[in-house]
Amino acid sequence: MCGIVGYIGNKKAYPVLIKGLSRLEYRGYDSAGVALLENGTDLNVYKRQGKVQDLVAFVEGKSTAGTLGIGHTRWATHGLPNDINAHPHASGDGRMVLVHNGIIENYDVLKKELIKRGHTFKSETDTEVLVHLIEEIKSKYKVDLVEALRMALNEVHGAYAIVIVSKDEPNKLIAAKKSSPLVVGLGDDEYYLASDATPIIEYTKNVVYLEDEQIAIIDRKDGLRIISIHNKEVSPEITELSMQLEELERGGYDHFMLKEIHEQPRAIHDSFRGRLNAKEGWITLGGLKQYEDQIANANRIIIIACGTSWHAGLVGEYYIEDLARIPVEVEYASEFRYRNPIIRKDDVVIAISQSGETADTLAALKMSKDMGATILGIVNVVGSSISRITHGGSYTHAGPEIGVASTKAFTTQVTLLAMLAMMIAKKRNTISPRRFQALLDEMEALPKKIEKLLLSADRIKEIATEYKDAHNALYLGRGSSFPIALEGALKLKEISYIHAEGYPAAEMKHGPIALIDENMPVFVIATKGPNYEKVVSNIQEVKARKGRIIAIVTEGDTAVKDVAEYVIEIPEADEILVPILATIPFQLISYYIAVMRGCNVDQPRNLAKSVTVE
Ligand code: GLU
Repeated sequence: MCGIVGYIGNKKAYPVLIKGLSRLEYRGYDSAGVALLENGTDLNVYKRQGKVQDLVAFVEGKSTAGTLGIGHTRWATHGLPNDINAHPHASGDGRMVLVHNGIIENYDVLKKELIKRGHTFKSETDTEVLVHLIEEIKSKYKVDLVEALRMALNEVHGAYAIVIVSKDEPNKLIAAKKSSPLVVGLGDDEYYLASDATPIIEYTKNVVYLEDEQIAIIDRKDGLRIISIHNKEVSPEITELSMQLEELERGGYDHFMLKEIHEQPRAIHDSFRGRLNAKEGWITLGGLKQYEDQIANANRIIIIACGTSWHAGLVGEYYIEDLARIPVEVEYASEFRYRNPIIRKDDVVIAISQSGETADTLAALKMSKDMGATILGIVNVVGSSISRITHGGSYTHAGPEIGVASTKAFTTQVTLLAMLAMMIAKKRNTISPRRFQALLDEMEALPKKIEKLLLSADRIKEIATEYKDAHNALYLGRGSSFPIALEGALKLKEISYIHAEGYPAAEMKHGPIALIDENMPVFVIATKGPNYEKVVSNIQEVKARKGRIIAIVTEGDTAVKDVAEYVIEIPEADEILVPILATIPFQLISYYIAVMRGCNVDQPRNLAKSVTVE
């Protein structure tokens, strides 16, 4: 949520900042801004409501000189997304500017205090309060900027990743973080700062991930120094990035989302590469191996997540309970952490998060760790906060996901959960050798099946044409396909702004059936399996009320064809893998509907990726 970039070096800063902001735009895109320090004396601040391209148009013809600067693309929390609330925000004397990701929770108290001391504010943001607070401390206690920042950060509550430029320290970039991510890129006599590694990768692979309550002081001459907000020296730990630049490009697709949908065979293959071998009959998840006993002997597994990852968790619940016979609870991280939950030492808490930065999930994990539980992560972004605080975990290896609506991250999360369930089931002897082997074979065949399914994209596009003007939609599924109904509905809401609800098919009778009429598209997962006949009955109930049925069926199915307006066939597969396969047509339907409605698919309104605020 929100993208921050900073540059100090010998190059012109402006193009680096703009390119970096474009890479980070998926994190927030309601306004953007830059500040450039020219000749160490002129601080040029340009900011604009809208996308990074609107900022570029605004800056055209103005001075973009300077080899030091900061940039920001905003996801508003406090104050409307307009020019004034856009970052960077300046101190009262205009000598210092700051970009910020996060929320200063006690901004109101601080603001009142600062107003009493004569400060006036231009914006409605919490961020502007922080920059004034630093200014106030600096002048009141006659300390330098770093000390003023350190003292200020000891007074604020909430989350922040910030970068500061000041005319008084014209050869420095000063940054700090708590609960919001910030990465320092180390080049040759140049340094980059960014919310994630995507703006940095084309310049250097060497990065330092700042930890909470650390301040980075980057000096042109003296390089990088890190201290804690409690004034302790920290020696920077350099990590090498493994990401490739091409992974950040659209690669000929109209949208990142479409590219990412089509990447799923590869992404799923990568998620089990080296971890599963059907021929030799084994499965192993390296980062979890050490905790295999703890998981196998857990009293209970608690899965915590938000949004799409929460849906993956629900599928995981079916897998783990069915195969490994361990009770599982799936929790919204935001609810879990605030309701005084019972967490015991023999509980295993698994967090699922694409970005590995989701604020609520991160906080819920920390709380579980403090209460003695073993905490594990299923995360996509390598080196992210969740991956660093967990005892163990597995990366999904989906590659960077740029489209805000999650696609390949979801299906790889589900793949990993299936592997985890199989691994633990084997360990606990709750799965027969035959079933275990059958599942291994099925897993290995999955990428090919998805490739085949993706060949029907054009037909799915035709189906999408029929429903693009709907105002509402219902998604139904049973068993492990119920979470897929939730995910299908979420995808449609997120990018096409059509109101949609996901329900367990049998629950429909307890309310949503009242909504069904001849205008209501009802998407149903009716694949072969133990629930098949029951779902077919549910389809009949919808049909009897004139609902328009679009069903996902197993290849060769004939019974549903007679009742449905459209059927979409998915390749025959084990029950366990149906949720992954059934997800894909729903992703494509949402995608095409959103495109036909003229929506911004990759950057849907009001949303942002990597939700680093609560
Ligand atoms: N709370 C700040 C604001 O509303 C920062 C939001 C962000 O992370 O983009 O401006």
